[in-house]
Amino acid sequence: MKKDPLIAAVGIFLLATAGARADAKVTVENNGNDDATSAFKFTTVPRPSADDAATSAKFTIVAGSADSNGGSLDNLHDDKLPQEADQPAENFFFEAGSHGGRVQVDLGHGINIRQINTYSWHPATRGPQVYKLYAAEGTATNFNAAPKEGTAPEQCGWQLVADVNTKPKLEEGGGQYGVSIANPAGNLGQFRYLLFDMMPTEQDDEFGNTFYSEIDVIDASAPVAGDAVSAAKLFTFKTADEKCTVTLNTTQAPGLENWATNQLAPVLAAWYPKITALLPSPEYTAPTHFKITIKPMDGVAYTAGQDVVANSTWLERELKGEAIGSLVHELVHVVQQHHSRSNPGWLVEGSADYIRWFLYDADQHGADMVWMRKHGKNFSPHYNDSYRITANFLNWVSGKYDKDIVAQMGAAMREGKYDENLWQQYTGKTVSELGDEWKKDVMAQLASKDSPAKPN
Ligand SMILES: [Zn+2]
Repeated sequence: MKKDPLIAAVGIFLLATAGARADAKVTVENNGNDDATSAFKFTTVPRPSADDAATSAKFTIVAGSADSNGGSLDNLHDDKLPQEADQPAENFFFEAGSHGGRVQVDLGHGINIRQINTYSWHPATRGPQVYKLYAAEGTATNFNAAPKEGTAPEQCGWQLVADVNTKPKLEEGGGQYGVSIANPAGNLGQFRYLLFDMMPTEQDDEFGNTFYSEIDVIDASAPVAGDAVSAAKLFTFKTADEKCTVTLNTTQAPGLENWATNQLAPVLAAWYPKITALLPSPEYTAPTHFKITIKPMDGVAYTAGQDVVANSTWLERELKGEAIGSLVHELVHVVQQHHSRSNPGWLVEGSADYIRWFLYDADQHGADMVWMRKHGKNFSPHYNDSYRITANFLNWVSGKYDKDIVAQMGAAMREGKYDENLWQQYTGKTVSELGDEWKKDVMAQLASKDSPAKPN
């Protein structure tokens, strides 16, 4: 639940300068050196677009000179990203020792702009971004499309849109930066020209000009990318071990926003690392990002890869009952990441319910003998009846034969190596022998009046 301190420190800038777009909001995010990857993945800033209005725009240097060690201006809008933290040729930056410069972008015609996003990557002081962004329609009589250094853009037909400075206060500021300039209430406006007045991040040495990796201009009429959908309204949190970022989307179930943020998220943040530890396999890392969408739908919940979807109508009814537990069950599926079709569904679901009902929520007696006893006279459980019944079976096998059975079967299923013979290997008995023995034990307990499994 802890916020990245750097994000918090850099925060969000609001700008309200006379003549500027008072409604432009700047969102800044930093992936530290250890977290930055060539995917340029952020939680609130959209990932770089593969095709946007800047792709075909004309980029020109109107003040300053490019550094000869760096790439050309094309790097800023070729939709290609550096693969590493220090790749001069894949970035554009102004000459070493200079105090920056100005890059003009001509979109060719006026475009209603939804968003302007800029990305940079460098291991040290050339990571952060310091620039002023101006925009113009280009129709003012005094318009100067290429204002040189010393000419104030505001004086020649430009308006200031945003004043960006992502430098952290205390640190060097290495890593990857994503900056998104948008108007939360709508679009930025109709513009043909943009002017980036880029400044160095420091003057202590010659190397203070930022490594800019990409500039994206998002046309308001372009389809909204999945990641960008109302990003401002999504709630993200980190798991307790800080290893995984979870995005919680309740935009289609606003009544559950509070519950999801305050009740559900803390449980998931605590349990994701526990489940990860319960279901290890060699060389396996559980997903470092996944998404939960809560919305009205049929059924209860499902997980597909790193997407969990849960039914808001059902959850609302179960807020005091099974709501959180049902998402702990889905959390197990996120960690399982079984991609083999030959895995038995009863074992996949039984394992998820075992963790949910015996480890997370044992006090609720949702799958133990208390629950078994609620069934009628003709109850005849079979080990592969799935969900809670299989959970009960797995709990029994864990207690009687092999405490690691769920982890071992989980690892085999994840690797696509599940085989019935594994039961024999791990417990000395076949699964049907185990099933018969378990059932006999269950039936004996159900028949006995003074059963040991009374709720206390
Ligand atoms: Zn399931």
